[in-house]
Amino acid sequence: MRIFNTLTRKKEIFRPLKKGRVGLYTCGPTVYNYAHIGNLRTYIFEDVLERALEHEGYAVRRVMNVTDVGHLTSDADAGEDKLEKGAKREKKSPWDIAKFYTKAFIADLGHLNIKKPDVLAPATKFIPEQIKLIEQLFSRGYAYETPRAIYFDVSKFKGYMRLSRQKLAEKSVRARTEVVEDPQKRNPHDFALWFKRVGRFKNHIMHWASPWGVGFPGWHVECSAISSALLGQPFDIHTGGIDHIAVHHTNEMAQSEGAYGRPLAKYWMHGEFLLMGKGKMAKSGSSFITLADIVKKGFDPLAYRLFVLGAHYRTPLTFSYEALHAAENALAKMRRTVSMLKSEKINKTRTPNSSSKIYMRKFSEALADDLNTPKALAVLWNVLDDMALSPHDKLSLVLSFDKVVALGLKDIKKLPPAPLTVQKLAAERELYRRHKQFAQADALRVKIGALGYSVEDTPEGPVVHPL
Ligand SMILES: [Zn+2]
Repeated sequence: MRIFNTLTRKKEIFRPLKKGRVGLYTCGPTVYNYAHIGNLRTYIFEDVLERALEHEGYAVRRVMNVTDVGHLTSDADAGEDKLEKGAKREKKSPWDIAKFYTKAFIADLGHLNIKKPDVLAPATKFIPEQIKLIEQLFSRGYAYETPRAIYFDVSKFKGYMRLSRQKLAEKSVRARTEVVEDPQKRNPHDFALWFKRVGRFKNHIMHWASPWGVGFPGWHVECSAISSALLGQPFDIHTGGIDHIAVHHTNEMAQSEGAYGRPLAKYWMHGEFLLMGKGKMAKSGSSFITLADIVKKGFDPLAYRLFVLGAHYRTPLTFSYEALHAAENALAKMRRTVSMLKSEKINKTRTPNSSSKIYMRKFSEALADDLNTPKALAVLWNVLDDMALSPHDKLSLVLSFDKVVALGLKDIKKLPPAPLTVQKLAAERELYRRHKQFAQADALRVKIGALGYSVEDTPEGPVVHPL
């Protein structure tokens, strides 16, 4: 399997650290609001990655954090804690906000057939681990204290910009606001590891005791602490949206590698944006669309999944309801065909057609080529359209593909059997056909059509299905 590693900007052959196993870390949601469908695109990509690795035979352990404290409204440490902002907005406690939106997030995963990670790790459940990591950074000379916070000194860490390949000067521009917030910060691009419950945070609701006084962790620390606690360091693959490269993942990498002197992850993979018109989807403004919004308009959430899989995860994808509509039609067609296949009497003893193996190989190759889902879907459609393939082979291929694309095809019900009159006409027509009396056979096809059914001649005999 080849995957695109953001660290090297190259497609590389995936080689796990431990034979047959993959440790996969995916940055999770900040639970102060619903996820928008742009966020969900990233989670679909990560789900396909996990399923594709399993398709290759790996046992995957996947960990996802849930940010329920410390993520400020600006990724560069300015502004207020998003959870406390959400709490004010809804007049609830930040703990209730976290609980409510975590539940909503898990429901979204379910609707989109995204497998729940092996561990969903809330940041607030890993405070001691985060404190330990900060202590480790102190002992190795990467952390320093001001009256307001503990910071990571990026000037001490060689290769700080390795992942983003930006210039430090570009990054400093974005960090300027924080300089004003804490004049004792050494470099504008240093980032907070721990905020003390003083100054702008003197009333911060979520807080814990630490060697540096009462306070709460900075956002990036949780991922470094949780991944190392649950997957070890290094682990195999770290994923997220491309918006995480410049700040969040850059800082995670600096913390983890600074603390333990080893790489954080072997491979870094990033999903591209979902676009609305010209801009990317954001958690504010009119472009904020949730899965519930789509469902309210009558769409099946899996139509959104199919829409997302229709584009490669590293290409920007523009959302529109027209495109979603097209995906829904395609999904309906796929389901109809699968339903028909399930209704047919299948001869299981037949040996699979050799083209069956070729289709399986093509599907696997598409996934192994840096998760080429558009190509994998094309193979699925080719299977459904291939008249030479037996219903048994078609169904077994489609159901194995569905373990990766996860469009719910295994749950599709059989069609109810056609009425007896229709079945009799079809049998009669088959007799004519066998005796090459095609005019009579065609006349019966018309009659069957008038009853609302069509006949398909397959290698295993005629099949009737509703028009
Ligand atoms: Zn993270």
